[in-house]
Amino acid sequence: MLKYDSYYFQCPHCQAWLEGRNLKAELVNEAILYSDGKVLYDNYITTRQKMLLCPSCGHAFWIEDPKEPFITTEKPDAEVYSWNTWRFYGIRFSDNKGKLALINHYLTFLKKSHYEPKNEIYLRRFLWWAYNDLHRNHQHVRLKYLLNGFMSFGVWHSNRRMILEGEKLFLKNLKGFNNNLKRLLVLLEKHPEEQIDLEVPEIYRELRQFDKAKELLDQLGSRTHFTNEMLRHSKWKDSRVFMVSG
Ligand SMILES: [Zn+2]
Repeated sequence: MLKYDSYYFQCPHCQAWLEGRNLKAELVNEAILYSDGKVLYDNYITTRQKMLLCPSCGHAFWIEDPKEPFITTEKPDAEVYSWNTWRFYGIRFSDNKGKLALINHYLTFLKKSHYEPKNEIYLRRFLWWAYNDLHRNHQHVRLKYLLNGFMSFGVWHSNRRMILEGEKLFLKNLKGFNNNLKRLLVLLEKHPEEQIDLEVPEIYRELRQFDKAKELLDQLGSRTHFTNEMLRHSKWKDSRVFMVSG
C-alpha cells in the first residue's frame, strides 16, 4: 500500500526536478505525537520541509506556498531527484552522527543569514526537534520495552546504546539547546499567530521553568490527555521530551 502521495517541483536556480512526498491524509491519525509537537509516522516526520538545499546545484530555497504551478502532482518527463536525495539534506539517521549533522545544518543556516520571523521560527522549531531527537524515545531504554516483546534483544540493545549515547550528546549540547529555545520563545511570544498548540508551555518545561509551564497550563480552559501529561512531567521536574500518543 502506498502511504505517500508524490508531488514534483523545480529548483528555482538550476531547474532540476525534485520529488516530494506527503503522507496520505487518512493516515495522519495513526501518527505518533511528541510533547515538542513533532509528529512521526513510520519514522517520517509529517510536517512538510520548507527549506531545501537543491541536490543538484546546492542552492538553498524555501517552499512557502506549495501550490500549483510551482508544484505539480504529475510526474515530469525528465530526470527527477528522489525524496531521499534532499529530505533533511540527504542525512541518514541510523546513528547519532546523522542527528548531530542535522543540528549543524540548522545552526549554519541560522548563522549564515537573517530571516523573516516566520522563517526563523520554522528553522528554530526544527532545530529544537533535532536536538530532542538525540534523546527522543528515552523510555525505550527500559527493560519493559524488551519484555513487552516490541523488539528483539539485538534491536533493543543497539537502540538502547544509541539513546544513552544520544542523551550524553544532548547534555553536551545543552547550552545550544537552551539558547535556541530562549530565542524561539521570544519570537513566538511576539508572533502568537505562529504558535502551534501547546509549544509555549512545553518550551518553558524543557527550559526547566516548571512553575511557568504549570501556570500557562492552568490558564487553559479544558484539560486534555496532553495537558495532563505535561502537568505530570512538570510536577516531576522532568524536562525531557516525551511521547504523548502513538
Ligand atoms: Zn538546483
